[in-house]
Amino acid sequence: MDIIGHLINGQISTEATRTQPVYNPSTGEIGKEVAIAGKATVEQAIAAAEAAFPAWRDTPPIKRARVMFKFKDLLEQNADKICELIGAEHGKIVHDAAGELQRGIENVEYACGAPEFLKGEYSKNVGPNIDSWSELQPLGVVAGITPFNFPVMVPLWMFPMAIVCGNCFVLKPSEKDPSSTLFIAQLLKEAGLPDGVFNLVNGDKEAVDTLLHDKRVQAVSFVGSTPIAEYIYQTATSTGKRCQALGGAKNHAIIMPDADVDNVVNSLLGAAFGSSGERCMALSVAVAVGDEIADVVIEKLKKEIAHLKYGHFSDKSNDFGPVISAQHKDKVVGYIDSAEQQGAKIVVDGRQAIVTGYENGFFVGPTLIDQVTPDMVSYQQEIFGPVLQILRVNTMQEAMDLINEHEYGNGTCIYTRDGEAARYFSDHIKVGMVGINIPLPVPVAYHSFGGWKRSLFGDLYAYGPDGARFYTRRKTITQRWPSANIREGKQFSMPTLN
Ligand code: NAD
Repeated sequence: MDIIGHLINGQISTEATRTQPVYNPSTGEIGKEVAIAGKATVEQAIAAAEAAFPAWRDTPPIKRARVMFKFKDLLEQNADKICELIGAEHGKIVHDAAGELQRGIENVEYACGAPEFLKGEYSKNVGPNIDSWSELQPLGVVAGITPFNFPVMVPLWMFPMAIVCGNCFVLKPSEKDPSSTLFIAQLLKEAGLPDGVFNLVNGDKEAVDTLLHDKRVQAVSFVGSTPIAEYIYQTATSTGKRCQALGGAKNHAIIMPDADVDNVVNSLLGAAFGSSGERCMALSVAVAVGDEIADVVIEKLKKEIAHLKYGHFSDKSNDFGPVISAQHKDKVVGYIDSAEQQGAKIVVDGRQAIVTGYENGFFVGPTLIDQVTPDMVSYQQEIFGPVLQILRVNTMQEAMDLINEHEYGNGTCIYTRDGEAARYFSDHIKVGMVGINIPLPVPVAYHSFGGWKRSLFGDLYAYGPDGARFYTRRKTITQRWPSANIREGKQFSMPTLN
């Protein structure tokens, strides 16, 4: 069986303390094994990054950007292969994988602007014959730890930016679907990146902990579930590292009585069930303001859900695929059971999903649950499956209070024709990314991505301008060249321009 290895100093290695199966979730079969790195392997990757850093930091930004230009080209040329690799291990349908890849490529395009965004700031004559400037210097060796649900896009949020800023990178992708990540890593070498600037180690907690505790690692970017994000943030910052840790979500849509119902139904279908609901920006909760709009939307959703197609990742006519694993399927089904036990009404039930020809695939059918209340476990926790829950309230303020009181604050959206209501909503809602009649308000690559509350630990968002700030540190230099006529005597008071 193929073993998915690591990429250390430009070489593939399958050194491992053990291996772990990687499944094809569409069939339920084991496709490959992944090498699980122990401490020594991770330390080799860190050492390779550290050794590559001095030359890379001194490489002109335009040359670093040119590697990214070439990398973008290679990602595009290899798009079909990448989407196939994503689908085979994640299960998302190839058209959805193509969307993931495109969103990732946009981050590479943004990174190509490094010579512009690394320019810094300059002031002439801050004092007599004194000039001052700020420059953005790389941090050194930085690490990224990424989740299974976007094995290409989320790593591309991190390393292109980190690398063009002059850092050297160690990536620990998800062990559940590592092939596509390793494949794009190899393209970097083909794009001309010097060995050691980018390294990838597959592994689990041991690999992550090694990165967190190693003093050579200056910064850690993490994307994954909230309990792990919190652990990563606390550990990384306690060892003196810069850290941004993006966590889980529970994204609500408010449906106002004046909303365009067809638009609501179409966009909820894609945003709740697309990618089997395994997106941190999936809309998993709809809060209907008034029973009238709730009943109309539910009736239409019921009819439309009956036409949804789910199945094998390679069949482009499918709307979505399986969930990531058998354990995750059990977890999702468990949440649906719990909603039912706590008094919610299962309107469409996906628990018994079977796909002909792929009976062992990890499928959960689209599930619609009505009469959900805030005390239910299925409402409080992230399900991460193709499950849409409906809550009913009487006023927009009640809907906003629900969102504001929820522990997560990643994304949200309001459906309305009322500009005043929309403006009030976007102004007062305690969530990091807000849509107005837009279900998945994922910021484009030249903005930055992040949630509020327990959806993000750290001060800076991922990618875009915040990404550039995260991967650099400012240095401010103040300079004078003394000459005979400006030489000063001793001065003991704070220098001023009086
Ligand atoms: P996860 O937290 O299980 O794993 C994420 C990474 O952490 C993986 O690389 C994994 O190997 C590592 N990890 C797991 N357990 C660990 C431990 N005990 N110690 C150290 N490292 C550990 O998340 P997942 O299941 O791969 O991904 C789904 C989660 O990610 C969801 O909660 C989703 O909302 C979240 N997510 C968030 C965003 C965002 O931008 N906020 C984006 C994508 C996914």
